[in-house]
Amino acid sequence: MPRPIEALIHPAALAHNLQRARALAPDARVFAVVKANAYGHGIENVFPGLRGADGIALLDLDEAQRVRTLGWRGPILLLEGCFEARDLELCSRLRLWHAVHCQEQIDWLAMHKTHEPHRVFLKMNSGMNRLGLTPSAFRAAWTRLNALPQVDEITLMTHFSDADGARGIAHQMQVFLEATSDLPGERSLSNSAAVLRHAADAAVRADWVRAGIMSYGSAPDYPEHDIHHWALQPTMTLRARIIGVQQLQAGDTVGYGSSFRAEGPMRIGVVACGYADGYPRHAPSGTPVLVDGQRSRTVGRVSMDMLAVDLSALPQAGMGSEVTLWGRGPGASVLSIDEVAHAAGTIGYELMCALARRVPVSVDATA
Ligand SMILES: *Cc1c(COP(=O)(O)O)cnc(C)c1O
Repeated sequence: MPRPIEALIHPAALAHNLQRARALAPDARVFAVVKANAYGHGIENVFPGLRGADGIALLDLDEAQRVRTLGWRGPILLLEGCFEARDLELCSRLRLWHAVHCQEQIDWLAMHKTHEPHRVFLKMNSGMNRLGLTPSAFRAAWTRLNALPQVDEITLMTHFSDADGARGIAHQMQVFLEATSDLPGERSLSNSAAVLRHAADAAVRADWVRAGIMSYGSAPDYPEHDIHHWALQPTMTLRARIIGVQQLQAGDTVGYGSSFRAEGPMRIGVVACGYADGYPRHAPSGTPVLVDGQRSRTVGRVSMDMLAVDLSALPQAGMGSEVTLWGRGPGASVLSIDEVAHAAGTIGYELMCALARRVPVSVDATA
């Protein structure tokens, strides 16, 4: 039998989560963000859950091609736009909308030969200082784009640095609104955290929201809020089985570096999951897991192919027991990826994106 570990993708949960974005921004259209191979889920695996989206947003031209091959005829937005002039040919051929965040991308458009003018998303750097034109250069860029026969529609776009946290979005909203007040066109501002926390403001919802992490059942502002608070459902389950059991006495240690020492007699299970599967090596002893749907904790260091869990309070559990590393467990049990990520000092995004290739993935066809 193959090594007993698998990932299960839940497209129905993704559809539910996209509905949550829609409910919070009812007057906006919703881009489902599927960059990084749908945040590690596999674009093909989540595709059945994407049908309710109004558009699909991603970064790689290769991923755009895959989405078209799956039969998606709706909008596709390249969030970083083109990386070189030649990419515009694919934009024309696949009817891709693309971000324009710098002068070079405007230069390429001006030289591009096309019969069908493009829809572009002109991106402002309103304070994040990653991609985008400064507020002072924004109007001139808009005017230049607007004069190009290669361009038909210009949507105004920006991205928030702190929608999930204490600083919030007010400073960036002010910059964006001031610099765009008399420009026509649709607007797109909000990522998941802005949809969840700030969408009471119509200017934040705007015309298009870009729902990434919330679509995948992770709360961007964990631990302040969790997925139950936001009514989101996990879209990825990572589960494995117990392949060994050890009985420990007081003073016995577990795993490399002997980082865990038993204080008294205890029973542990060894799980067929390690950092080479994408489980975070930095998860300390005490990181939550589900064993047969019951909460327990890891003990000792995570190794490449295995980790250990405490079975002391679970006498029925043993060889072959199912261990949920994150996602949906047996019955109605749930272990949010955010809890695991938080324990390991990272975020849900990183764990889902890091699911290793060696883990077999299947699609959960049930609701
Ligand atoms: C990744 C990304 C998003 C989605 O962000 P989430 O926090 O996952 O919702 C939205 N907009 C842009 C430009 C992005 O790069």
